[in-house]
Amino acid sequence: MKRHHGRSRFYGALAGAVTLAVTAGGCGAAHSSSDAAPPSAAVGTSASGSAPAVDTAAWRKWGLSPLPAAPEPPADKPVKLSATGTVPVLAHIPTAQKVVFVTLDDGAEKDPKFIEMMRDLKVPITMFLMNDAIKDGYGYFKPLQEMGNHIQNHTLHHPVMNTVPLARQKEEVCGDQKILTHQYGTAPLLFRPPYGAYNANTKTAVGECGPRAIVWWRESMQINDMQYQAADHKLRPGDIILAHFRGPGELKGTTMTEMFGNLLKRIQEQGFAVARLEDYIQAPSA
Ligand SMILES: [Zn+2]
Repeated sequence: MKRHHGRSRFYGALAGAVTLAVTAGGCGAAHSSSDAAPPSAAVGTSASGSAPAVDTAAWRKWGLSPLPAAPEPPADKPVKLSATGTVPVLAHIPTAQKVVFVTLDDGAEKDPKFIEMMRDLKVPITMFLMNDAIKDGYGYFKPLQEMGNHIQNHTLHHPVMNTVPLARQKEEVCGDQKILTHQYGTAPLLFRPPYGAYNANTKTAVGECGPRAIVWWRESMQINDMQYQAADHKLRPGDIILAHFRGPGELKGTTMTEMFGNLLKRIQEQGFAVARLEDYIQAPSA
């Protein structure tokens, strides 16, 4: 995993990104979860009187203490997508709010406990679903969708997009778009390229198949901690975090809910709230 120091180098590297290491292993075994957070009394950290009451007991059930409540999303959305033209690539959302966005890819692991966890915690997630991983259980994701979470495009078969021709890229994006639209009743607005790999043809394929932006990431969740793009290993306002629907087989015995709990702890340690990505992105007006 290459480390990119500084923002301009990071963005320069995006264009040439080939296969990012999104493997489960590799990183952060040092953080064992001995810090099963004592549910401190300092729950109502949100100064805003309008924030909904935090269900501390629900968080405690999962060995967690509540994250700060997400602020109201800006009325004027910081990202505005166009119905035409080349699709942009987003690795973060320009915002001064102390929020990050959690994205979950693929869809192979379908742990019922994770649905229970999301019902309890109400943390917003964005799901980039890949048909090969979900076709044995489209229904699993519907309760997550009903909680307000959006389902987005992640190809039919998970190829390394910049190694296949335009026609194949279009099959991959348009095919997943069609199935997701049929299964979930709404057309994906966003596309996540497998391994983060894309080229000019990917942008063409994405634009022609319906999604209006490619979504990259700034941090990648492993088992206990994140891999950071930033050299200082700190979250920044508006960062998009990549995680996966993975279970013990991919996580060295760690469950999906344990991994997700670890992610929330790492976010909480840095004082961030989790906001909904789609609340910061304006779809093209019809
Ligand atoms: Zn993937």
